[in-house]
Amino acid sequence: MPHQQSRLDLFIDRMVSQRACLDAAIAQTSGMAGPVFELGLGNGRTYHHMIQRIQDRPVYVFERAVASHPDSTPPEDRLILGDVRETLPAALDRFGATASLIHADLGGHNREKNDAFARFVSPLIEPLLAEGGLMVSSDRMYFETLTEQPLPEGAVPGRCFIYRR
Ligand code: SAM
Repeated sequence: MPHQQSRLDLFIDRMVSQRACLDAAIAQTSGMAGPVFELGLGNGRTYHHMIQRIQDRPVYVFERAVASHPDSTPPEDRLILGDVRETLPAALDRFGATASLIHADLGGHNREKNDAFARFVSPLIEPLLAEGGLMVSSDRMYFETLTEQPLPEGAVPGRCFIYRR
């Protein structure tokens, strides 16, 4: 009889999916000039991956409390410190609908809480994306005008989502 997925299995699926989705989304938006937004810095692993691969666009980080690896800490002028429920609406005034790529990994261990939070922040994220821009998320999002995209090879369905304006 097959085993149920362990927490280790789920974690590995999430990591593999984040990399596959980010690499695909970075490649697909490489011709765009607008900024890239990383929502949730955490340890800074995905931020580090992104800045190594994105040299043509600024990467701004939204985080309420920086606790990242020193190698993966954004410069002060690329950090938007505070709760995204407040900093995302402020970012719309500052940047308008210009983001070429938005990556969100804001969740914790509680699936129900993550889903409720995704519902709350979806309408705050949606207007920031430029025409043709992509949004990559570890949680299912609830957008009115963005279209869910097929996942790239290597990504595990349900562990990562990609949306396009
Ligand atoms: N992708 C990151 C990495 O590779 O290391 C991990 C991100 S971690 C799972 C989630 C981060 O989102 C935490 O650092 C947490 O502080 C941040 N976060 C969660 N809710 C937030 C909120 N409402 N406003 C700002 N940051 C938030």
